[in-house]
Amino acid sequence: MDTTVTHPAMSRAQHLSAMTTDLSWTLSHQSEQATFPALHAEGIQVHNWSAWQAPLQKTVEAYWHMQGEKDKRLYAITDAFAQNNGQLGVSDARYVNAIKWLMQVFTPIEYCAHRGHARVSRQLGVTPLQTQSMMQSLDHLRHQQIETHALSHFNKYFNGMHSFPEWFDNHWFLAFAKSYADDLLSAGPYEFLVAMALGYNQVVSPVLHVPFMSAAADNGDMSTASAGFSAATDKVQHQTAGLTLIEWLVREDAANLPLVQAWIDKWFWRSVRLSSVVATMQDYMLPTRTQSWLSCWTTCVQQPLQQVFNMWAPLGLKLPASWQQACEQQAHVSHQTWLRLCRYSASLSLHVWAPNPDELDWLSHQYPGTFDTLYRPHLQGLAHQIAHGQRPAAETAPVLCGTCQLPAVGNNRSEAKAQAKSHQGRYFCSLHCQHIFNREPDKHQQQAHWNTQTWNPIPHLLDADVGMFPGSEDDNNFKEWNGEVQQT
Ligand code: ZN
Repeated sequence: MDTTVTHPAMSRAQHLSAMTTDLSWTLSHQSEQATFPALHAEGIQVHNWSAWQAPLQKTVEAYWHMQGEKDKRLYAITDAFAQNNGQLGVSDARYVNAIKWLMQVFTPIEYCAHRGHARVSRQLGVTPLQTQSMMQSLDHLRHQQIETHALSHFNKYFNGMHSFPEWFDNHWFLAFAKSYADDLLSAGPYEFLVAMALGYNQVVSPVLHVPFMSAAADNGDMSTASAGFSAATDKVQHQTAGLTLIEWLVREDAANLPLVQAWIDKWFWRSVRLSSVVATMQDYMLPTRTQSWLSCWTTCVQQPLQQVFNMWAPLGLKLPASWQQACEQQAHVSHQTWLRLCRYSASLSLHVWAPNPDELDWLSHQYPGTFDTLYRPHLQGLAHQIAHGQRPAAETAPVLCGTCQLPAVGNNRSEAKAQAKSHQGRYFCSLHCQHIFNREPDKHQQQAHWNTQTWNPIPHLLDADVGMFPGSEDDNNFKEWNGEVQQT
């Protein structure tokens, strides 16, 4: 007679442990040091791995089920958008330039985050962090894929999206994004985790995946908005896990505090510089506007991080060294970046334009005290120049910062060359970038060197991809498709 074998039910914690950390094995032929040399290379001291409790952790089985359900819903929306010619219903063809930049800058960084977490998962060996990092690696691969799928519909109808991986690797205009990704990928495992936790996940992702994706929906693009919101649900888990990890590392050993603080200082500033892309998308590239960049920064970055550091004060962690400057410059960054884009429009992989009078008034209302005095005259002058066929068209690339690879403001090449002698041949946008460079000069020299070696010729950039938006092929096509009179 067969007898049914009954197993005692496992608690949720036992089940989770059985399906995650218990899947690891014990080393028998090689030492931990020989197998996982990176685990101790950065000086981080961990005494009791069993004390680490990953927040919001799932089993692999539950993870696959949840992501599969999300994907079903997402692809129902993106398919419907494509089949209903959703590209015709966006607020204005200028909007597509915002998602060109999203595609060119952030989908490759998501892919690098996937690679980074996969590498860290291997380097961290048989620790409880391994499973968590492996799942975050899969999340970032999924984000890169769903964003590329959602945006690829626009590639059939608009210019400026066809060769974005080559541009990411070789175009000076995107060197800041590649530099950020390369810096992440060449960091040690603990620095990488702190960089993602306090940099990308706290400074860039909250503004990109919530206010910008809401704005995409307001501009009629449900395809991109749905992909962004689908990714945002993973980001909440990443943020919680990252902040918990930082706190745990600092509690584990007093020697960890200065290391973690230095990585926080570095990656907060690098991420602030990277977020200037989102600032410009939010303030200048959305024909239907709902929230200014300054408001996004205050509500999604400044206030939450202030609370986090208030909570961490007893541990000895301090606000990043660049905190005050970072907060002060958010009233300026989108305007300065947009004016710079217009100056170099002849070689960018997207279109730019002069804001119309209503848009200038909206910006004036959002930035009282700074916009009218500092930026409105320049933007009105730009509109005047364009109207008279005298748009600014610098044919050369600007001087780029030796660390963040964004243009160093107010310098021409000869000035930069003269001043660069004391900075190992590099010029910097800020003292914070110079400090980052000086901590690892060889690494940042290599990144800057790559950029200067490959910036010319720019691969596969067509005439229809570059220049001013009015009169471009994108502009003319969109008007024709919507039955408007074609510009001549
Ligand atoms: Zn810089």
